[in-house]
Amino acid sequence: MDEEENLKDDEDELWEDGAFIETLGPKDIQEKMKTFHKKHDEDMNYNCKKCNKQISAHNKDWHNSMCDDCFNNQHFEDNV
Ligand SMILES: [Zn+2]
Repeated sequence: MDEEENLKDDEDELWEDGAFIETLGPKDIQEKMKTFHKKHDEDMNYNCKKCNKQISAHNKDWHNSMCDDCFNNQHFEDNV
């Protein structure tokens, strides 16, 4: 397993355990919770870091700055 694989696994665990939240300070969480309650198509002011498609503030904060497609693809890849 190379280093990139290790990194991917770590990221996956963070998302699955919810430990991601714990790495944030209280203020960061407040900021994030704002977008958590937003809809997936609200505030489409950002771009997917993979395919450059327009994404919402929610996706930026909660989908690793990726559109739903790229986010899901990455998860499926990681789980293979
Ligand atoms: Zn994308």
